[in-house]
Amino acid sequence: MRAASLGLALLLGACATAPAARAPLAPVSPALQATTWTYGAAEAALIAETSFRAMVDRAESRLGALYFGSGFESAIVRDVADGRARMRECDLTFHRPAVVFDLDETLVWNMGAQADQAARNAPFDPARWARWEAEGGDRLVAVPGAVEAVQALRALGITPVFNSNRAVASAGATAQALARLGFGEAVHGETLWLHGDADGSSRKHGRRVAIAERFCVLAQVGDQMGDFVDAIDFAEDGSRRAAAERTRVARTAFGRLWGERWFLIPNPMYGRWNEPPLGLDDVVPQEARWTPKE
Ligand SMILES: [Mg+2]
Repeated sequence: MRAASLGLALLLGACATAPAARAPLAPVSPALQATTWTYGAAEAALIAETSFRAMVDRAESRLGALYFGSGFESAIVRDVADGRARMRECDLTFHRPAVVFDLDETLVWNMGAQADQAARNAPFDPARWARWEAEGGDRLVAVPGAVEAVQALRALGITPVFNSNRAVASAGATAQALARLGFGEAVHGETLWLHGDADGSSRKHGRRVAIAERFCVLAQVGDQMGDFVDAIDFAEDGSRRAAAERTRVARTAFGRLWGERWFLIPNPMYGRWNEPPLGLDDVVPQEARWTPKE
């Protein structure tokens, strides 16, 4: 009897500690997956942090090289000749040293707006975004490593300059949010450049030129190719480059700049890489396809 009770107790104990059968995973929308990876994955946080640390390190050594007269190149492209980027020149005698940053999904995470969009599984809505820009400043979150990097630059005497496609109408709200997060002062037209500033364009080249006339730009940081140069997204005739061509140009004409003067922050949620949306046929060549044999 006692032995039977003990056996039953052991059996019940075993049942109590046995792992529950794993429920099948519910399908997740690509938008939701991209959003949860960006804001939830250690991998995403660490890529950002690594990029920011490398940028501060490279900017500091670049500043040293400029002080000792062994360099004159800005991190801003002047033109592309023979498929190779030619950089604008800068001189610390006339220009303050600076690093140019994009804002959205580079220095700040728009968790509120992206979660709203992913929860509705809806396409980007410009009117809804404008409301977010105006009202959501107190909900912006700093990207991991971003505040530390900007503060480290300021301590080195390097001015952070923000070049964003946020609207001029929300310049005050944007500057206020940056200050609240610890990025310091942002003055519109000086260290804060917004959509349409300089040349009326949503592309950032005109603003980059205006910034390079005032500052010696040691590095650029962004989450989109357009944060660095327009020539990756657009061909000389103004047409939009296809994904593979975009990647080729980014890696060849500008290859030496990545990780040296240009630093990327990961953003799988939106960008020209996915405009128009890519399908498997666009990115997986036939010879790389696989299905298990019967
Ligand atoms: Mg951005």
